[in-house]
Amino acid sequence: DLAPLPSDIRYEDLVITRSKHLQVKPKLDATTLKFGAVYSDHMLQASWKDGLGWTAPSIDPLGPISLHPCAQVLHYAVECFEGMKCYKGKDGRLRLFRPDMNMDRLARSAARLTLPHFDKVELLECIKELLRVERDWVPDKEGFSVYIRPTMIGTHPFLGVGPTREALLFVVLSPVGPYFPSGLKPIKLYVETQNVRAFPGGVGDKKIGGNYAPTILPQLNGSHLGCSQVLFVLQDGNSTGGLVGESGSMNMFFLIRQEGKDGDLELVTPPLDGLILPGVTRDTVLTLARGFGGMKVSERPLRFDELERAAETGRLLEVFGTGTACMIQPVMGLVKKDHTEIAIPFNEEAAKYWLAKPPGIAALPDLSGGEPFSLC
Ligand code: PMP
Repeated sequence: DLAPLPSDIRYEDLVITRSKHLQVKPKLDATTLKFGAVYSDHMLQASWKDGLGWTAPSIDPLGPISLHPCAQVLHYAVECFEGMKCYKGKDGRLRLFRPDMNMDRLARSAARLTLPHFDKVELLECIKELLRVERDWVPDKEGFSVYIRPTMIGTHPFLGVGPTREALLFVVLSPVGPYFPSGLKPIKLYVETQNVRAFPGGVGDKKIGGNYAPTILPQLNGSHLGCSQVLFVLQDGNSTGGLVGESGSMNMFFLIRQEGKDGDLELVTPPLDGLILPGVTRDTVLTLARGFGGMKVSERPLRFDELERAAETGRLLEVFGTGTACMIQPVMGLVKKDHTEIAIPFNEEAAKYWLAKPPGIAALPDLSGGEPFSLC
């Protein structure tokens, strides 16, 4: 007898159970609405078993999940996740930003942890349905959106370190405003040269929970020096100050004027060499900046010495982080271990550059993720 083929996630199988107790929605106030602290009324979920495949996905009232104490996720961090946003336009319609990139990245993270494959198009359709159910949770105020957190965990009760046999996928929604309490005001980063986020041959390019827990303590240490996040600089045995990486939840960009009289402008971000998370916002900024013209746009290794030298000679014009949560986050200072600070002055030249309508703008590709999806 042939065993039936394991089933995949299918939108047409989606079952919706509506909550009878809807919460009061939070005020859209940047000072009180903390990032990721409020959740909507419903969640999307589906579970998977080796050989059987996925159960029918369901949208249910948000609530606790039950796990065996030996579930793999609790012991060996078999967990991956995504972060994406849904916006409500002035026309009242919902828009996701390049969600196919998040589905691709989730699939890559899951594969690295032996978590199951899933149909990316079908899962996205289910997420859209969750957003339709929760459409009143999607803020219609500028600077606010709904943060979407798809998550997959290994649930198999097994204390041996082995491939995943059972998994749970769930998606929750959280209405959010600015990521940093300071809003879009420039922040400082602590230059972290001792603790390492990612290393060659590691999994720094995957969005897995195990990458994040060890970053919390360095971030806390940095916060005592007035820094909102850390900038990871990997000491690789080379005496050039180390390799500039990324921040706790942002890819980093540096606008540098090259040496020499009338040196060219170069926008630099570290390359996708396995140490860097391939950010959706990073890719978007690179694409847009290449369309602007007027500056070289480089994905290349950047050594901390080069940054310091550029700063000392007034050629480090701008530093910013990019991420779904923080969007574009200006950085005004890099605080080093000896507590000295590389100040990144507000630079009028740079500001003028970004404010002017760049010449190539009309030819930019449409990155909006296509048509807004229809609502019931
Ligand atoms: N780097 C890290 C370590 C992150 O966690 C994130 C957030 N996903 C980013 C960069 C930015 O990626 P994205 O633009 O896709 O949100």
